[in-house]
Amino acid sequence: MAYGKVIECDGCGFKVDAWDEGNPYILGLDGKKEYVYHPDPRRSEATGLETPCLCLNCGREYNVEEELPKVCPRCQSSHRKECYELEGEICPKCNQGKFFHDPKKFMIS
Ligand SMILES: [Zn+2]
Ligand SMILES: [Zn+2]
Repeated sequence: MAYGKVIECDGCGFKVDAWDEGNPYILGLDGKKEYVYHPDPRRSEATGLETPCLCLNCGREYNVEEELPKVCPRCQSSHRKECYELEGEICPKCNQGKFFHDPKKFMIS
């Protein structure tokens, strides 16, 4: 079971969808990544995991892979936070609002 929540800025309404398990993937024969989200039966064979993060400098979402150094593809900043942990951070879009999560917007896959 995977759980997701919607994290929202209380200033400008910018929204981020966050899933607790990130993006698990397997590598196909051609070396391409294939995502195996729940309830994909190959989920347990996942060999890698990407974690969706939000750049706290420019507000771009991008994936970070375990163990690999990574910076924002747009602004090259490494100031980021996992999407799932954004609550309480200042929104990079408006630089005023704070992220909160609405418990009524809860997703299960
Ligand atoms: Zn905002
Ligand atoms: Zn950035």
